Order: sequence, then C-alpha cells, then structure tokens
Amino acid sequence: MDLIAIAVPFFLLALILELFVDWRKGSGFYRSNDAINSLSAGILSTTTGYFTRLLALVAWSFVLRHFAIIDMQLAWFDLSVRGVLLWVTAALAWDFCYYWFHRFSHEISVLWAAHAVHHQSEDYNLSTALRQTSTGFLFGWIFYLPLFVVGFPLEVLITVNAVNLIYQFWVHTQVVRRMGVLDRILVTPSNHRVHHAQNERYIDKNYGGMLILWDRFFGTFQDEADDDPVVFGVRKPLANWNPFWANLQVYDYLLFDARKAARWRDKLGIWFRRTGWRPPDVEERFPRKTVDVSRFQKFDPPTSPSQRRYVMAQFGVSIVLALSIAELFARNGAGYVLVPCAVLWLQLYTLGLLNDGRASARRIELLRLLAATPALYALFTVSSGVPSQPALGWAVVIGYSLASALWLLALPRAKSELVMH
Ligand SMILES: [Zn+2]
Ligand SMILES: [Zn+2]
Repeated sequence: MDLIAIAVPFFLLALILELFVDWRKGSGFYRSNDAINSLSAGILSTTTGYFTRLLALVAWSFVLRHFAIIDMQLAWFDLSVRGVLLWVTAALAWDFCYYWFHRFSHEISVLWAAHAVHHQSEDYNLSTALRQTSTGFLFGWIFYLPLFVVGFPLEVLITVNAVNLIYQFWVHTQVVRRMGVLDRILVTPSNHRVHHAQNERYIDKNYGGMLILWDRFFGTFQDEADDDPVVFGVRKPLANWNPFWANLQVYDYLLFDARKAARWRDKLGIWFRRTGWRPPDVEERFPRKTVDVSRFQKFDPPTSPSQRRYVMAQFGVSIVLALSIAELFARNGAGYVLVPCAVLWLQLYTLGLLNDGRASARRIELLRLLAATPALYALFTVSSGVPSQPALGWAVVIGYSLASALWLLALPRAKSELVMH
C-alpha cells in the first residue's frame, strides 16, 4: 500500500483550501509563479523518483539480508500492545535518523546541494511542502542504514518513512500561528517556519521531522520571535523559475569553486566541508556579495496577467498529466512512463520560462505545443505498443496542442499589457 499516493489527493485539497483562505483574507501567502515553481519541483522529484528510487531499495535490502542483527518478523508488527510499541519504536527511530540526515543536509555542502531545492521558495505555504529535491536519492538512504542493521523489516521502515513525510506536509503554513505547548514537543508550523528562514538567528535551526524534541536535545532549537519576522528563502536566491536549474544551482556553485581551486585537497574537499566554505584562493579571486536580509526583495519578474492565466491553465494540465503518469507507473513500471515523463518535464520547463518573462519563451512554448508534444506522443504509441483507442489519443493530443497554440497566439504582447497594469 503506497501511503503517499493515497495522501496526494488530500494534499491537493488542503492546498486548494489554503489558497481559498489566502484569497478571501488577501494575506498574500501565495504567488502563482512561486507556487507553480514549487509544485513543478515536487512533480519533478516524484517523476524522476520512478527511475532513481531503486538505489535505496537495493541498498537497504542488501544490508537487511546480510547485516541485520535481529531477525524481526513482519508479523510482530500487528495490533497487539507489543506490535504497537514496535511500530512506535520504528517511527521514533526513523524520526531520529531523519533529524541527523536533515541536519547534515544543511551542514555539508554536497548534501545541501540536494536539499536546497526545498528551501528556495520565498513564500511559505502548502506548496512549499511539496517542493522536494530530485537528487536526494544519491546520499539520503545512507542515514537510515543503522535501522536496517538493527533489523526492522523493509515494509515497516517504508511505512514509517511515508508517515514521517506526510506529517511534514501540514507544517508548511502561515495560517496556523502558535500552538502553545505543542510547539515545544512536535514540529509545528511555527517552529518549521523558523527552519525555512534566512534571518541570521534562525539559520541552521529546527531540523526535526515529527518531533522538535531532537532539536531541543541537540541544541539546534530556536523559537519564532515576534520581533524578528521570518524572511523565507535562501541566501543565494534561485532567481529564476526553472525547476531543473533549482536542482542544479548549488552543485554548479560547488563545481565552479572546485574547478578554480588551485589545490587538489580543496577541489575534492569542498564537497564534504561545511556549507558555505570556499577555498581561500577562490574566495579571494571570485568574492561573492554578502547578503543583507533586511533589504531582501522577493524574486518576482513582471509578466502580463493574461499570460499568467495561460500558465496556470497549462499547469493544471501538468497536474493531470502527472497523476496519469503515476497511474501508468503503478500499472506498468518505469520503462513505460519515460516518454510521458519527457512530455511533462518539457512542459514544466517552458512554463518556467514563461513565468521568467523571457523574450523567447512564447516561441519555445509554441514549438513545444506544435512539434515536441505530437512527436513525443507518436514515440510513445510506437514504444509502448498501440494504445487501445489510438484515434481518441491523437484527437486529445492534437486538440490540446492546437487549442493551446491558438490561445498563446491570441495573448496580447506582454509589453503592451504590462504598461496598462
Ligand atoms: Zn531543511
Ligand atoms: Zn520544510
């Protein structure tokens, strides 16, 4: 049973509800470009995960088979008192490992490169929760190995992982302010807002997944202070809406420094040193601006309202496509969904370009609609065997592409509309 797949409709419902509350109150927690970028990163993380998640599963199964100390049976995890205690132990043990994984993800450069994606949003709402990395598969699994050495069954640990992730969804909100004593025990919206801040006093605090007690115990807890409102985001802003670049930006910084460093120990060492550390010679030749959080401005390139409506509608198509691909993956496996994923990824990329307000964006979007999408659909029908209703499939694809292209061509020139607004 895939708990996360079951949770997705509830995630979307909660998000729509929060969006509605935000709209009614005019609180400004949502901007369409930032939310679309966060959700695009989430979709990218899920869909690339179809191809990368095997690494962790293979490693975990291997360790469990060859190194487990206790031969725990799945049948022990039933609804008896002992069974429930075992479930609670597994969930707490996972949360403990999560704390350290998350802490190292902030403190070590190469792990930060993967995790930074989750922090790039300069807003804070339920869409931020779904903003996940696509490269976490590289090292993330290592931190949970002790639990497999102990011998917890794979199914149990996969379940408590899902519970941990699902729990973390709801804390990404500004609608809930303070929760009294719960703020001191559990990870709550207030103390997770602190974690997403770039204010000096909030940096590298509140790493917990479900329990904030770990932070209190290991000295990384910080309460949200009324006189220091959280400024969300990262110190080196992403400054574009490209979900692929969001996943590569920090690796790119590190690669730049590694290439420019004179000493070999710096070229190799930089990846595993404290986040923010730079080789002294590189720091001197290529200094980076220091950030003044008090003068922070959100990245928000101007685009016309009519184009924003077009992007939002297209992003609705992306969500439907992503849900359909999840269904196809569950039934047919990763090989079957590669081409549909390519269609989706291309769309997320061009929608980012449109939101960036790039001059070439509309031309590239037109190419996607009229050339790439039909070509990829043709490739899909060939590679996956003839679909049951080929005529209907083609009618949908051609109808979608033509209708979208006409809408795009009918949009007023971005500049003229911007002057009006
Ligand atoms: Zn984090
Ligand atoms: Zn978060």
